[in-house]
Amino acid sequence: MKRRSTPTKEAVISVLNASNKAMSQDAIEHKIEIEIDRATIYRVLNQFCEDGIVHKIIADDGKQYFAICKKCDDQKLPDNHFHFRCSSCQTIECLPALVHFSVPESYKVERFNCILIGKCKDCS
Ligand SMILES: [Zn+2]
Ligand SMILES: [Zn+2]
Ligand SMILES: [Zn+2]
Repeated sequence: MKRRSTPTKEAVISVLNASNKAMSQDAIEHKIEIEIDRATIYRVLNQFCEDGIVHKIIADDGKQYFAICKKCDDQKLPDNHFHFRCSSCQTIECLPALVHFSVPESYKVERFNCILIGKCKDCS
């Protein structure tokens, strides 16, 4: 598959970098100043996820959000931190809080989807 031009990638990454919250694709699209179609943004986001630059969060409302991998530091199990969804301002952010758990023998964990719901520091 042909890889897309650098300006598209740079635009998406700079929008995510400028945000301290996770963003939906719609929110990313609104912030991008150059003209890029939805399908391209979607492809770029998923490519960033595969490359380990960005991770995808499926919130408890079923919506998808994307965040830069800043707080992902476990190589074997990436994105092993909690996500916090604020029920007031409807934002999602990566918390610097690692997920600790234990599972019964012969279960193998491959990924996490840990969402805490409450009031963020701006709303509490
Ligand atoms: Zn990550
Ligand atoms: Zn909030
Ligand atoms: Zn995260």
